[in-house]
Amino acid sequence: MKIFNTLTRRKEEFVPLEPGKVKMYVCGPTVYNFIHIGNARPMIAFDTVRRYFEYKGYEVNYVSNFTDVDDKIIKKAIEEGVDAETISQRYIEECKKDMAAMNVKPATTHPQATQEICGMLEMIQTLIDKGHAYAAQDGTVYFRTKSFKEYGKLSHKNLDELQSGFREIKVTGEEGKEDPSDFVLWKPKKEGEPYWESPWCQGRPGWHIECSVMSRKYLGEQIDIHAGGEDLVFPHHENEIAQSEAANGKTFANYWMHNAFLNIDNRKMSKSLGNFFTVREISEKYDLQVLRFFMLSAHYRSPLNFSADLMEASKNGLDRILTAVERLCDVDGKVSGAEFTEAEQEHVAAAKELVGKFEAAMEDDFNTADAITAIFELVKLSNSTASEESTKTYVDYLKDTIEKLCDVMGIITERKAEVLDSEVEELIAARQQARKEKNFARADEIRQQLLDMGIVLEDTREGVKWKRA
Ligand code: AMP
Ligand code: ZN
Repeated sequence: MKIFNTLTRRKEEFVPLEPGKVKMYVCGPTVYNFIHIGNARPMIAFDTVRRYFEYKGYEVNYVSNFTDVDDKIIKKAIEEGVDAETISQRYIEECKKDMAAMNVKPATTHPQATQEICGMLEMIQTLIDKGHAYAAQDGTVYFRTKSFKEYGKLSHKNLDELQSGFREIKVTGEEGKEDPSDFVLWKPKKEGEPYWESPWCQGRPGWHIECSVMSRKYLGEQIDIHAGGEDLVFPHHENEIAQSEAANGKTFANYWMHNAFLNIDNRKMSKSLGNFFTVREISEKYDLQVLRFFMLSAHYRSPLNFSADLMEASKNGLDRILTAVERLCDVDGKVSGAEFTEAEQEHVAAAKELVGKFEAAMEDDFNTADAITAIFELVKLSNSTASEESTKTYVDYLKDTIEKLCDVMGIITERKAEVLDSEVEELIAARQQARKEKNFARADEIRQQLLDMGIVLEDTREGVKWKRA
C-alpha cells in the first residue's frame, strides 16, 4: 500500500509500527459554528482511508480532536452572552450529527482540548526542562524553534528564511519572544476569557500543543499516520512535530497525509471568506451520501471545485449504483441454484479482476476516483449479466461484492425511502386539524410519524416549520 508522505514528498510503501495495526490522528474542527463542507473533506477522505485499512484487516485506532478553546469560540460566546463551553458543546453535538449523516464513523476517541489541560502543562514543563521552551515575563511560554534542528522539515521551509520573514512582522504583545519564529505554548488570560492555573500564569494553551498531547495520550509517542487539510502543514503540523519530537525524543508520525482544498469558484471555501455552505445546508437539498460520493469522486490530494452540476452528476452516479443493488435484491428473491454456471464462472473471474482494480486504486495513495470507476464497471457487469436466469449464488456474489466495496467508500447501498414535500405538508395539515379538534394524542402521533420519516417540526409564531433531520 502506497501513501504520499508530505514529509518526504514521495509515495512510500506503508509499513505499520505494529503489524496489523494502524494508529492515526486527524486534526478535527474548531467548534464555534456548524461545520462547512470544506471541513467535511478531511473527515470523509480520512474516514475512507480508515475504512480501507479495516477492509484489509487492520485494526485502526483513530483519534480526532475537537478544538474547544479558541478565540473564535470565545468571541461567539460573548456575542451570545453565554460561556464558551455552551458554544463548544453545542457545536460538537451538531458536528457529530453531521458526521453520522455523512456516514463518517465515530473516532475511537474524540478528545477535547479543555479536558486535557493537565497533559499540556506536563508537556510544556518537559519542553522547558529540556531547554526547548521558555516563559517570558508576562507568563507566556514560547517554543524555542532554534533549539529544534529539524524545524521546517515537514513544510520544507528553511528556518533562516523563516526567521527573516518573521522579522518583518512585528506583533505587539509578543515582545517577550527570543526569536520571531518562536511560537506560543501557553498564553496569559484576558479579561472574561476561560483560563486555567499553571506554573507560569493563569491562562490557556496555544493551539498546537493540544494535538501533540492528545496524540501521545491516546495513541502513544509514535504513530503511523497524522492527517489534516493542507492548510495545517504550516505552522500547525510543523509545530506539532517540533513539540512532540523535542519532548519525546522520537519520530512523531511516520506518514503525514494532507487533503487539498474544497474550493468554490476556485477559491478555498472558508468561514473567514464567507464563501461556504454548511453540511446542514447541503443536507436540505441532497442526501449527504451524494456529498460523500462527490468528495470521493476526486483524489484527496487534488483540489475539488464545488458546483451544483458536479453534485447532480454525483447524484446520478450514486443512483446508478443504488439501482443496480436494488435490482439484484429484487432478482435475488426469484432465483435459486447453488453452483455457478460456466458462463457465471467467467463473469466471476471478470468481477474479481474489477475488485483487484479497486484495490490497486486504493493502494495507490487512496485513489478513490479510480476505485469508484471500478465499482461502476462492476455495476455494468451486474446489469448485463445478472437476471432471473442466474443462480442465487451468482446474484448474491455480485450483491455482496458491490456492497463490500461501497462500504469502503462509506456508501450505504440501501436506498432511503424518499419523503416527498407534499407528503409532509399533508401530514402537517392533518396534525393541525387534530390540534384544532383538541385531539392532542393524534397530533403527537403524527409528529412522531414525521420524526420516524426524518422530519422535524418546529412550532413558531409564523406557523409550523419543518426540516429534514
Ligand atoms: P478548522 O476548523 O478550520 O481548523 O478546520 C478543520 C479541518 O478542515 C482542517 O483539517 C482543515 O484543514 C480542513 N479544512 C478547512 N477548510 C477546508 C477546505 N476548504 N477544504 C478542505 N479542507 C478544509
Ligand atoms: Zn492538530
